[in-house]
Amino acid sequence: MGMTKEQEEKFKKLGLSSYIELALVVPSSYEDLRVHEKLQIHAMQLIDATVESVYRAPNSLQITFFAHNFGHLITGVLFRPKPYMMHQFKVGDRDYYYGMVECKNGFCSMSMPKKVTNIGAITPKYKSALRSDVMFRLMQSSLTKENLISEGLKAEIAEELLHVHFPAQIVPNLRELEAKTVDALKYSELFSYMKQLSNKRRYFKALTSSCSDYEKWAQTLPFRLTHEQVKSIEEIKADFSKEISARRMIVGDVGSGKTMVILASALMMLPNRSVLMAPTTILANQLYTEAKKFLPDIKIALVTNKTKDIDLDEYDFIIGTHALLYRELPCASLVMVDEQHRFGTAQRNLLEKLVSSGEKKPHFLQFSATPIPRTQAMIETAHIDVSLITTTPFKKDITSTVIHKNDFKELLEHIKIEIESGNQVLLVYPLVEQSEVLEYQSIDEARGFWEKRFSNVYVTHGKDKEKEEVLLEFNKSGAILIATTVVEVGISLPRLSTVVIVGAERLGLSTLHQLRGRVSRTGLKGYCFLYTNQSSSERLDRFTQTTSGFDIANLDLKFRKGGDLLKGHNQSGSQFKWVDLAEDEEIVKSVKEDLGKRK
Ligand code: ADP
Ligand code: MG
Repeated sequence: MGMTKEQEEKFKKLGLSSYIELALVVPSSYEDLRVHEKLQIHAMQLIDATVESVYRAPNSLQITFFAHNFGHLITGVLFRPKPYMMHQFKVGDRDYYYGMVECKNGFCSMSMPKKVTNIGAITPKYKSALRSDVMFRLMQSSLTKENLISEGLKAEIAEELLHVHFPAQIVPNLRELEAKTVDALKYSELFSYMKQLSNKRRYFKALTSSCSDYEKWAQTLPFRLTHEQVKSIEEIKADFSKEISARRMIVGDVGSGKTMVILASALMMLPNRSVLMAPTTILANQLYTEAKKFLPDIKIALVTNKTKDIDLDEYDFIIGTHALLYRELPCASLVMVDEQHRFGTAQRNLLEKLVSSGEKKPHFLQFSATPIPRTQAMIETAHIDVSLITTTPFKKDITSTVIHKNDFKELLEHIKIEIESGNQVLLVYPLVEQSEVLEYQSIDEARGFWEKRFSNVYVTHGKDKEKEEVLLEFNKSGAILIATTVVEVGISLPRLSTVVIVGAERLGLSTLHQLRGRVSRTGLKGYCFLYTNQSSSERLDRFTQTTSGFDIANLDLKFRKGGDLLKGHNQSGSQFKWVDLAEDEEIVKSVKEDLGKRK
């Protein structure tokens, strides 16, 4: 970047790595250090003044100035003056002073006048790891149009940013910056973020750059693939034919049919090998069963920690849990990770490494059941390709209702009826143990009530080591499952028709959505009850009106801004200071386009 050593050190101290990032550290205020002839009441102002007299009171210092620029007297008042301040005011001296000017009954005063030397301009003030004047000098020496343009910004955006730091005529109002200034800040923030993301993307030669058909297989399925399943598969097909190894994330709601995309991918990879990792034994088993069912002609292996030593070389498709990471694996051309958020980056990378050989890398596909806003997806595409599956093959019929204490009797009736007809009910409590602060029951407090009235009541929670077994047992013979929100079961409970979420207003919409997604997975009529002590909540009401995870991700954005979240959480939850993912789709688009042009 052609920086001096001194500049570099300052950038380091500020934790910044580019001029654009520096430009995004906007002033916290401005000092107008120009000499004006018109006096403004209740404003910070500069006076060109001669000290006429100094009066020392017990707790203050009063200075009578003659302000030449205004042509009249102004009384300066210093409260609790420090010794050094006393010496700043000598009768007869003429200097520049800056301070808050107030006028009452024709009498003007300036509180805490400060002697200034660098006058003539609007000077920004910064709150950062550097002293404000040091920061300002860094801005002056680093922020130039050329520097900003050299990092890829467009000229008009660069100019807009420079105005914020070096305003010419009018002091910018930081609370109400002009729309085009805010847009420039948003654009720059996104540009900087997405540019860094795209720099992180690594390109490797693929182990395999060929792709088999999936169309004939698709026709043998008992159902037709949805439009978006096909679109994702086509995108993957195009990836597989490239010399560079694929890096793609497939995002689709629970029940959107991602498994079919996984199976199609393994099929297209033939005659080369694929590996698939799932976060739990139950999920790995389910995927294995489905793979065997829909890909009967392929040799498929299941690897869990119970698997005996088998020679994996003989298999075309290896499905497993974390256990895969602790075995020797044969080379594979495709690595897939289901429910990717439940693995760490290190684990995902390790799996890829285990099946790689030499410089070349397998194709890599991640599957996520956490719908993200479209804008977020667009941003992600800077470092990973993204396919969205926003529709589900069959519409889930789930009735969602916000309920209160006085609805409890009715709820109990509903639960009885569901259980009598062989369906299952999930009750989600906010905590395992009693808590002083929470106005809801915990699992420990509530379980007795349910166990007394119903048989086959099961209890599990996040820290429960037997969680998987309890879930399997419940699946077979349970009526009611009592759990905390951490019941992140990826397994399907086909008889689960009802979920009751206690203290629903405490949870994010995406968590509520995940929980609701547990019911009605096989077309059963489903019910979701949001139990709350809050008398009304637009957020919960809006949640009951849609079942699309992508709509909900957008709603979540909208409501997070309003701060309808738990106390103590990051209010916006966003990595951006200026960009609003709910509203700035156009800006995201234009940054994406502009970054694309650079390559
Ligand atoms: P996800 O992994 O995205 O949560 P799954 O792949 O488990 O969803 O699919 C949910 C259910 O939908 C499964 O029972 C699956 O067999 C079924 N399914 C998948 N694709 C289709 C389709 N195109 N038409 C009808 N049913 C489908
Ligand atoms: Mg799945």
